[in-house]
Amino acid sequence: MSELKYNCELIQDLLPLYQDGVCSGSSRNAVEEHLKTCGNCQEVARKLTNYRVDEMLTQEKETVLTAHEKKERRRTLTAGIVTAGILMVPVIVCLICNIAIGHGLDWFFIVLAAMLLTASLTVLPLLVQNRRWVWTIGGSLCCLLLLLLVCCIYSGGSWFGVAAVSCILGISVLLAPYVIYNIPLPKALADKKGLLVMGWDTLWLYGLIGVCGVFVQGGGFYWRTSLLITTYCLWLPWFIFGVCRYLKTNSRIKAGLIVIAVGVFTAVTNSVIEAITGIPNGGNIFKIEFSSGHISGNMESLRASLLLSFLVLSVLIGGSLIIAGLTGKKQDAEERKGK
Ligand SMILES: [Zn+2]
Repeated sequence: MSELKYNCELIQDLLPLYQDGVCSGSSRNAVEEHLKTCGNCQEVARKLTNYRVDEMLTQEKETVLTAHEKKERRRTLTAGIVTAGILMVPVIVCLICNIAIGHGLDWFFIVLAAMLLTASLTVLPLLVQNRRWVWTIGGSLCCLLLLLLVCCIYSGGSWFGVAAVSCILGISVLLAPYVIYNIPLPKALADKKGLLVMGWDTLWLYGLIGVCGVFVQGGGFYWRTSLLITTYCLWLPWFIFGVCRYLKTNSRIKAGLIVIAVGVFTAVTNSVIEAITGIPNGGNIFKIEFSSGHISGNMESLRASLLLSFLVLSVLIGGSLIIAGLTGKKQDAEERKGK
């Protein structure tokens, strides 16, 4: 042991300097001599080397990634600017033509709005860094509405409201879930995203009925039937949403409830619409004619009995699912007690 002239602590303090090659000649000799004989310090030196290599690799990786990201961002930006420039060509050409032909600026605005829509779908996603698709969806929806407005004004129409609300409703049904799940919301609303999507879509559905009513100058019959039928039809999606989102029970019971709801909806919708409009539409399950134990052979009655069978079938399937769910629940509870 006397060969270990220097104690290990001293050598280990010197190791980083030694590995960086910045210690004096005598220190270096001392470290090298010590390492030849001391397994413990050899281990420390090895670990130190590995750690430094790892650190260097991480640093290098980060630099490379940052550089790549910057390069990529620059490229995307260039592509965006070039695309925007290309889109400007038809706009300028049309501007000149429109003025030259002497109509003043009328259809030029249609071209401008159309190019804006194209830009919102091509340039916008290239230029925006955060929440790219949310911005693109919002931007292109605005441009689409602008295009519709310009066309409506140019053609002297009054259909803008109907077209705009239809577009918003259609795009909402498709993309509102994506947008609402990707935008920051206040804390109170953050756990009500499903409710927000459902509420938003419902609102625009009523909005559509409203603008259509104004557009066709619908009378009392229009408003009564359209509002009642829409409200009636909405119970099914809201019921399914409520069961899936808020009912705290197992999935078999939920599935059972939904199957029965769909069965009831399918079976009674015709009857409800007939009751609201007063117009017989066939398939009213409350008007099935039973004659001497058999259902009467006319088409209306056959259609209704088909719906009735569907209702019975869905109640049977849904009921068995609910019973299976309830017994499963009891078993689970007993098992938990057993433990
Ligand atoms: Zn040592």
